[in-house]
Amino acid sequence: MGDIVFHNTLGGQNQPFVPLHPGQVRMYTCGPTVYDFAHIGNFRTFVFQDILRRFLRSRGFEVIQVANFTDVDDRIIAKAAEAKLKIRDYTDKYIEAFLADQRVLGIEKPEYTVRATDHIEDMVRLIERLTAKGFTYVSDGSIYFRISQFHDYGKLTNVDTSGIRAGARVDVDRYDKADARDFALWKAPKPGEFFWETRIGPGRPGWHIECSAMSMKYLGDTLDIHSGGVDLAFPHHENEIAQSEAATGKQFVRYWLHAEHLLVDSQKMSKSLGNFYTLRDLLEKGNKPSTLRFLLASVPYRRQLNFTEESLQQAASSVERLRNFAVRLNTSKFPEGKSAITESAERAREGFERGLEDDLNTAQALAAVFDLIREANVAMDQGKFRQGDVVPVGKVLESFDAIFAVLQDHDDEKLRSVGVETRGTALSNEKIEELIAARQAARKARDFAKADRIRVELADQGIILEDSKDGIVRWKRK
Ligand code: AMP
Ligand code: ZN
Repeated sequence: MGDIVFHNTLGGQNQPFVPLHPGQVRMYTCGPTVYDFAHIGNFRTFVFQDILRRFLRSRGFEVIQVANFTDVDDRIIAKAAEAKLKIRDYTDKYIEAFLADQRVLGIEKPEYTVRATDHIEDMVRLIERLTAKGFTYVSDGSIYFRISQFHDYGKLTNVDTSGIRAGARVDVDRYDKADARDFALWKAPKPGEFFWETRIGPGRPGWHIECSAMSMKYLGDTLDIHSGGVDLAFPHHENEIAQSEAATGKQFVRYWLHAEHLLVDSQKMSKSLGNFYTLRDLLEKGNKPSTLRFLLASVPYRRQLNFTEESLQQAASSVERLRNFAVRLNTSKFPEGKSAITESAERAREGFERGLEDDLNTAQALAAVFDLIREANVAMDQGKFRQGDVVPVGKVLESFDAIFAVLQDHDDEKLRSVGVETRGTALSNEKIEELIAARQAARKARDFAKADRIRVELADQGIILEDSKDGIVRWKRK
């Protein structure tokens, strides 16, 4: 296996990946802001982070991953007030939904999943350290970070700070690069708003300080990897660097990885365009969890992912092809010996690893697996596949599934876990047609018991058959 290379947003180059502590990777992934259900775009980034951790683990690294919930920010405070709920009560529901969605998508649990509101004291302490070093000032009860004091400000996203007026401030958490200014570390409460009473005064933390405080608490002053979607690079990650490095005097993060956005029919996903999907919306439309995971994982993270009906269908049929092949491999009996497929399997394994090593090029990795499946299916059809090929080919599927995690069919179980009706969604149209053809063949062979079993099996899945006089079988979902 070769070296792992990642594209580092810091410096904008591909770099060999070498963690600070040999054999161990400390990584922080910015989690959801829990003011609403996460959408499928968010999950594109979370699935990428899962692929990243699974890949590093498959290479023998111990991964220590911290993921957070941003459970306090401007939007949450406003929405909780609207709903007349305490912040914690308002966000609990979305955190629970997120954790369930994560399981549905086969996203592994990070070693630490932490809530911002459980770390107010850590944030206060970090702000005190910054104040002691002269990086902050107070205005109207809020505490700001003075960016002109931190000479490396802008190094992640190449912000030009030359034209910024001293003392110009920004109070919101999200803003454009053109609006780079001193940002709020701690915000004074507005009348009627929820606040914490602390040593640095009453108020609440800015968004950026949350991630600096939580990541360094669990992972130390220097992290190996920090990641999120591209929209987080500025201002969120730029400001995290400023706060953390100003406080510690050390490099905060060695590799910054940012995922490109998911688009819907080539457009930005937004509520106003009506193309905004939560995971549940898509499951209720009949998509399987494995289809969604596969689709999100199959497009390399630095490429925009265009989410279309067609791409969903392609992903569904890819998963089906993989599963059918695994069944064929594991249930057929082949003649003794080995064939050239064993070498093809070795090449496929190398191709798979080479794709992932190359900045997690999942498309290239998948191509290696599908090439092997095609070749092996042909060999099986022609009677050339041998029993001795089963283990090497099986190993390729194993490596594949350690990362993609779609081979085992747990779709129904997962759907039920989030209360989505599975009837009619369990079988694809292709599978139904296949079963109907098998039933027809059984009838032709006068094996009526088998034909009947298939009819009952279909009925159990909510598929009703109508035999017409012309011999054509029509079907519908109950
Ligand atoms: P948020 O809840 O807004 O903090 O976002 C959670 C994660 O989802 C962050 O890493 C975002 O960068 C990411 N994200 C937001 N929108 C998209 C999108 N359309 N495609 C991919 N990632 C996104
Ligand atoms: Zn963050």
